[in-house]
Amino acid sequence: MKCTAKNRAGKRCGRDSIPGGRVCNFHGGGAPQVQTAARLRLAALVDPAIGVIAKLLKAKKPSNVNLAAARDILDRNGLKPKEERTLDAVGETLETLLAVYNRIPDGSTDGDS
Ligand SMILES: [Zn+2]
Repeated sequence: MKCTAKNRAGKRCGRDSIPGGRVCNFHGGGAPQVQTAARLRLAALVDPAIGVIAKLLKAKKPSNVNLAAARDILDRNGLKPKEERTLDAVGETLETLLAVYNRIPDGSTDGDS
């Protein structure tokens, strides 16, 4: 969302507003009370977003637009799925791949006799 403040020429600011807010950092978005209000505004959307996702789970024709909006709200509230992978899992996968690789018979036919 773009900042709703106007510049000296009377035109809209055009900068991105702070998440959940209506103004950019330059036009008051950095003030603690504005940031608190923005956080509360975003947090108030979490329950409706979860409701939308719950409805989509039961819907015969799920709407991608509704799902994207609900996920965006949850993401902005820091409720996105974890994308971390542990090094153990990577090492285990590598070991599995090596084990499979080592089981592949050697196809070379250089005629050692
Ligand atoms: Zn602005």
